[in-house]
This record gives sequence, C-alpha cells and structure tokens, in this order.
Amino acid sequence: MIHHQLLIVGGGLAGLRAAIKAAEAGADCAVVSLVHPVRSHSGAAQGGINASLGNHPDSGADNPEHHAFDTVKGSDYLGDQDAIRILCEEAPGCIHEMEHWGTPFSRFDDGTVAQRPLGGTQYPRACYAADKTGHYLLHTCYEQAVLRGLKVYDEYSVQELVVEDGACHGLVTYALRTGMVEGFTADAVLFATGGSGRIFGRSTSALINTGTGMAMAYRAGIPVKDPEFVQFHPTTLYGTNILMSEGCRGEGGYLLNSENERFMQRYAASFMELAPRDLVARSIQTEIDQGRGIGGKPYVFLDLRHLGAAVIDERLPGIRDICIHFAGLDPVEEPIPIQPGQHYSMGGIDVETDGGTCVEGFFAAGEAACLSVHGANRLGGNSLLETIVFGARTGTAAAAYVRDHVGGPAAHAPAVGRALDRFTAKLDRLLARKPTADAYAMRAQVTDTMDSVVQVFRTGQGLDQAVRTLRDLRERYEGVAVRSGGRIFNLDMLRVLELDTMIDLALATAEAARARTESRGAHSRVDFPKRDDIEWLRHTLAYRGDDGPRLEYKPVVIDQFKPQERVY
Ligand SMILES: Cc1cc2nc3c(=O)[nH]c(=O)nc-3n(C[C@H](O)[C@H](O)[C@H](O)COP(=O)(O)OP(=O)(O)OC[C@H]3O[C@@H](n4cnc5c(N)ncnc54)[C@H](O)[C@@H]3O)c2cc1C
Repeated sequence: MIHHQLLIVGGGLAGLRAAIKAAEAGADCAVVSLVHPVRSHSGAAQGGINASLGNHPDSGADNPEHHAFDTVKGSDYLGDQDAIRILCEEAPGCIHEMEHWGTPFSRFDDGTVAQRPLGGTQYPRACYAADKTGHYLLHTCYEQAVLRGLKVYDEYSVQELVVEDGACHGLVTYALRTGMVEGFTADAVLFATGGSGRIFGRSTSALINTGTGMAMAYRAGIPVKDPEFVQFHPTTLYGTNILMSEGCRGEGGYLLNSENERFMQRYAASFMELAPRDLVARSIQTEIDQGRGIGGKPYVFLDLRHLGAAVIDERLPGIRDICIHFAGLDPVEEPIPIQPGQHYSMGGIDVETDGGTCVEGFFAAGEAACLSVHGANRLGGNSLLETIVFGARTGTAAAAYVRDHVGGPAAHAPAVGRALDRFTAKLDRLLARKPTADAYAMRAQVTDTMDSVVQVFRTGQGLDQAVRTLRDLRERYEGVAVRSGGRIFNLDMLRVLELDTMIDLALATAEAARARTESRGAHSRVDFPKRDDIEWLRHTLAYRGDDGPRLEYKPVVIDQFKPQERVY
C-alpha cells in the first residue's frame, strides 16, 4: 500500500490550493485524482471571483462587510455568518496572491484588476480573466503545485473512504491505467472532490461531477448538509445546457420572452437581470410555464447583440465560441436560446470553518463541502473564492493535524486491508452476476427524476414520487452487473459503481427537499411558497441509515445580520 501523511482527493482549485498550503507547512502530501488536475471542472468557470477590491468606478465604497451582507442576503439567511465573514475578509488577499502567482486577470486602463457586476450584489466585485477565469486560476495553482514538487496520482478513481471507530485511515482506489485495485494509507484525508451536478441530466457540470466524494463520506457516516439546496443557473444553452455565464448579463445582456419583453421588470424591478440566480431562474421558468417561451418551446432569449462584436470578443470570447460551435449561432447577430439548468451543489459534506468533520483526520473543502457560505443560494463569483480561501485554510488545518497525529502505515493498514477485501468482493459480484437490471436505463431514471420533479419548482406530490422511484432504484441496484470484462480503463465498471453513489445522493436530496415545507433560496415549494424562519431557519443534516436517509437539523450561525425579507 502507498502511504502519505496527507492524501488530498481532487486536483481542482480546492484540492490544489490545499495541497500547496500543506506542502508549505512541511506535510508529506499527495493528490489523488480521477482526472489530471487541469482537467477538473474548476477550469470551466467563466464569470469571475469576488473580492471587494473597489477597483470598479461604481464600487469605491465596497468593503468586506458589504460583500458579507450581500452573501448573507443572497443565501436567504441560511448561510453561516462566521464562515461568510472569513470568506469576504480573506478575498482581497486571495486575489492579490493569485495575481502575484501570475493569473492573467483582465485589467482596467489604470492597470488595476478589472471587476464586473454579477447577480445579487450592491457593487461590481467579480474579478475576471475574460470569460475563462477558472481556467487561468486552475493553471496558476497547478504551476505552484509543480513548483513545490507535489506528487499527483492521476487517473485513480477513489472508491471508498476508509473510516473505522470514528477515525480515517485511507482510501480504496481503482487505478484506471493499470486496472488494479489499490489501497492508500494516510494519517489524514482531505476530500476536494467537487459537486454532484450530474445526478441531474440538464446540468452545466462536467460529466465526472457525479458527487462520488460526497456519497463516500455519507457512506462512511459523515452527514451531508443541506442537500436539498441545488442551484439552477438561469442561463444554460438550450439543447446542451452548457453554461452561458452570468458575466453575459454582467456585461449588459438582456432576457427576452416571446413577446420581446424584458420580463425581469415584473420580477425584480431594481436588480432586473442581475437579481440573484434563484430569483432569475424562477422568473424564466415562470415565463416558460405560462407559455411565453420562444415559439412555445422551453426557452427564452439571452440577447447580447447590443453589446457589439468588440465587447463580446474582449470580455466574452468563450461564450461566442460555444454558441458558434454548439448552437450554430453567432451571439453578435442572434439572441441565444437559454433555460435554467442544474449548476451548483450548495449542500455537501458537513464541515467546520477549518474544513474538519465529525471523523478524526477527515477534512473536506470546495464544492464537495458545505460550510455553509452559500446557504440556500450561492452568489455568482463566490464559489471560486470559497475553493481558494477554504482550500488554503483546510490544507493548513490538515497539515497541522498530521504533524500532531503521526500514525504511520502500520496504524492504518489493517483497516484499509479490510476495506480492500470488501471492495474486491463487491467487484467480483458485479463482474460475475447475470444482470436483471440495466444500469444505464437506471441512471437515466435517476437523472430524469431529478430533472422533472426535484427542479426549480417543487411540490410535495412530485417529491413523494421522486422518493418512491429512487427507493425502488436503490433495491433494483442489486440486479445490475458490469458487462465489460477487462480491468484496464473499464468505464462500464466505473459507471456501474457510480450509479450506486448517485442513487444515494439523489435520495438524500429528494428526502431533504420533501421534508423542508417552506421556500427558501433555490428550494422553491409550490405548496409552501413562503419562507418559514420559525420552523426552518436551520440546516439539514442527512445521515445514511440502513433504510435510507435519516434527517437531523442544526442551527444556522446568525451573529451579525438579522433575517429580513429579501427585496431585489
Ligand atoms: C461551467 C461552470 C462555470 C462556473 N463558473 C463559476 C464562476 O465564474 N465563478 C465561481 O465562483 N464559480 C463558478 N463555478 C463553480 C466553481 O467553478 C466550482 O464550484 C469549483 O470550481 C469547484 O472546485 P472544486 O475544487 O471543489 O472541484 P472540481 O474543480 O470539480 O474538482 C474536483 C476534483 O475531484 C476529483 N474527483 C472527484 N471524484 C473523484 C473520485 N471518486 N476519485 C478521485 N478523484 C475524484 C476530480 O478528478 C477533480 O480533480 C462554475 C461551475 C461550472 C460548472
């Protein structure tokens, strides 16, 4: 078995930022990742990363407190205010660090880092590098990791987080290139495994973002916090659901219905297209549901034509490319057909502000974790920020943990050995049995169920049906088999294993949504349209039980901004 003091799973922004910190603190640490780090979904981020730098002519009065207030209000008061303060106070330093490491941010004429408005904020505060912000940040962090000689095990699929007696011992992995099942021991493990968007069909997420990290932690006894809070991005390209960045509206793009009306004036008169995402997504969905989609179809238009080719080419070149290549239209000349689609998991592995969890030696950061800085609705530009700020903090905390808890390989090998035996037996079963169920048809049932009822607007009846379908799939999983026999790069095997974890997460999401009889942020119940602070101003904690999820609740940290009605 391979041993490192600290294993970081995930080579996206959160994982790399954590690894850089841990390496600087002297920890023997390595990254284990399904894909090469620079292929992580962080590289797809477009619109920007928030910090109250005050560089924009309209944002001179901005400061971390305004940023914190916008984030708390945007979260529909479900965000934990202690964590949000850390996020906003550390943001300017985080931008300066990335800038000094060489991120080629777009700039104003005076040479300062350019900022654009994104939704739900009082001041323009998103720093950006054209519409490829994530790509540049990720490459910057990867360079810094290479500079520090970081060891990366890529094309390893982690299959189990090994926890025994409340402590973490390591990992069970499937190495795609060799086809071997391999155990890793470690004094601490940090998950930076990203979001779970692909439990939905219409999603902006990379295909690998199926939430296996969250599900592995859930199976190891760590609760998933607030799984019912799923962000639907208002503007995803009709047909493929590729993201059309909020930067499009930040630069002045409009939304139009079939009557050529800028309908946002009826939903958010002062913020218009730059209201927070939950509100804009509901507005678009309402227009579509009430028959004002374009040509009766389930989309409206995002119109950039008035910005002109020069602005589009300078600030939104990736958007123009995507439209040309994936929709066959040039946004300089034609409006873009868009609809809401799954975009972000506000929920995730329940962590403290240093990334620690209820299991000794197990940490999590980035989209896989839930602090919660986004509460019921994330503001654009706050997630990249979270990956870097809390990636670094969690890397520091994990490095301190392994310095104080030297176990070594011998302390962890027996537990990992037992987990390896269990996993190998499971694989043998999957490879040997005759299938009575089709894993791919079942996967489509999971994503169709999530798309159709666990969507922008939810009802108790729909969620009852989702829970029934997912529980049925849970049982039928016992009939699936791996049909492709080889061991090397066996993607059939990966898909079949992944389905198991997708069902778990989808069920936790649907059950938590069914239980929450209110509407807050992105969780909108048609049958309970009001926010209910008396009953529901609390976080959900979903624990995995033998008979499906067990739901518990915990208080929200509210120590500065008292809950108010949200008006935009
Ligand atoms: C299209 C798009 C645009 C976005 N734009 C913005 C934006 O402009 N601003 C903003 O703030 N946010 C944006 N976001 C959100 C933000 O980009 C993500 O939340 C963030 O980058 C997630 O980073 P991460 O490091 O947590 O995870 P990721 O970057 O998703 O990395 C996850 C890593 O985990 C590894 N992994 C996962 N499972 C396993 C496993 N089982 N075994 C081994 N390895 C595993 C993967 O290989 C990968 O390296 C956007 C998101 C999308 C999808």
